[in-house]
Amino acid sequence: MAVVKPIPDRLEKRRLTFKGGVHPPEHKEITEHKPIERAPLPPEIFLPTAMHVGAPATPVVAKKDVVSRAQLVAEASGFVSAPIHSPVSGTVKDVLPLPHQSGRMVLSIVIQTDVEKTEEIIRAEASQGVEANIDLSPYTPEQIVRAVKDAGIVGLGGAAFPTFIKLTPNEQKPTDIVILNGTECEPFLTADHRSMLETPGRIIAGLRLAMKATGAPRGAIGIEDNKPDAIASMKKALQEANVTDRIEICTLRTKYPQGGERNLIPAITGRAVPVGGFPPDVGIAIFNVGTAAAIALAVAHSRPLMERVMTLTGLGIKNPGNLLVQIGTPLQFLVDKCGGTTHGASMAILGGPMMGPTAPELNLPVLKGMSGITVLTHSETRPRKEFACIRCGRCVDACPLGLMPSLLARLGQRRRAEEALRLNVLACVECGSCSYVCPSNIPLVQYIRSGKAQAQKIARKK
Ligand code: SF4
Ligand code: SF4
Repeated sequence: MAVVKPIPDRLEKRRLTFKGGVHPPEHKEITEHKPIERAPLPPEIFLPTAMHVGAPATPVVAKKDVVSRAQLVAEASGFVSAPIHSPVSGTVKDVLPLPHQSGRMVLSIVIQTDVEKTEEIIRAEASQGVEANIDLSPYTPEQIVRAVKDAGIVGLGGAAFPTFIKLTPNEQKPTDIVILNGTECEPFLTADHRSMLETPGRIIAGLRLAMKATGAPRGAIGIEDNKPDAIASMKKALQEANVTDRIEICTLRTKYPQGGERNLIPAITGRAVPVGGFPPDVGIAIFNVGTAAAIALAVAHSRPLMERVMTLTGLGIKNPGNLLVQIGTPLQFLVDKCGGTTHGASMAILGGPMMGPTAPELNLPVLKGMSGITVLTHSETRPRKEFACIRCGRCVDACPLGLMPSLLARLGQRRRAEEALRLNVLACVECGSCSYVCPSNIPLVQYIRSGKAQAQKIARKK
């Protein structure tokens, strides 16, 4: 059993943080004051069977089948997998391989939307709230885990790891604290911020259900200090539920990548996740705030994961905002809903600019783990000339994991994977902090990523 320390009692009195990190311009002002709006239904929904960590789901519908909103359309095909449900009522138009954000072709289910029928169901769902003080007594831990598994919930912060696995109690590694990640440290993105303002009760309910499922006696919610209104909103919901003795709000210094679990867990609990280990090794289960809200809806209303909040932002979007979107909606449809792109638009990023991959095209669908689209302009994406390393050490100071980015990048370029492996290249979370601070404009994370891929092959053979 892991040796665990309690959360320090001084949490409320100081700003928690981690070593390293960077301060990129936040650009949150573009959308942080814009309430979440429900996006219109697209004429067609595209559901790739691979939108989670693990085995792709297996379709259980065929061309011409009539489906209704919330119906299972693809079942989980292994322990680490997740089912997929139709966000719309309509007719299956086809089941075929289609382009995916990974660059591969992925088997996908295309559904033609019956807008009228779907809207009718969505209107009925609007009355199904979940309050922070939800009565937990009707639910056993097994029922909570089963409801989350059946609902196809995966990490909404981007990881897309099946949530039921993290909720399942583990006798060897008992959970004593459930942490909700409300840091949203990526520049531009404000979906979690708005959710904490607009549906705090649902998030707290999800946290309390997660604590019951895992058996954890304590909960914590990490929020950066650039969101004082979200901190106030969550505190109020905690007070209303009368759970302030078991769940606390941890205010963290605004710094990127505060939301990485290897930075957030030590900042809140003082426990370091070992290299090659995972949060359960130190008694922690950690979820994004959006995932907690989805847990609450799944347990209280048997509602599968069909929609999520996304931020459409950046100077390249005409009318940026926070939208409640159906999974499988084409990104282009959402960009058009936001007035389209500006003249200067140059590149769309899936998520935020520090860690998000470039969107190869906008005809891709929204996936469960997609928290936003950031459209950057030409002036923000102009290629910068790369110079030789001047050994300034800034990348080392910025690395939140204490790695040596300049050396790892060099080893990656020279394909010296054995040495990179010895220097812990696999611990790199590709946060991009090193590239961000490099005065020589060296795309360190790109070279390190290549070194990681080589090192992974060696590690697998060992
Ligand atoms: S080496 Fe990896 S973890 Fe460290 S700053 Fe660079 S990208 Fe982030
Ligand atoms: S920040 Fe750039 S220039 Fe400075 S040591 Fe690292 S790689 Fe070299």
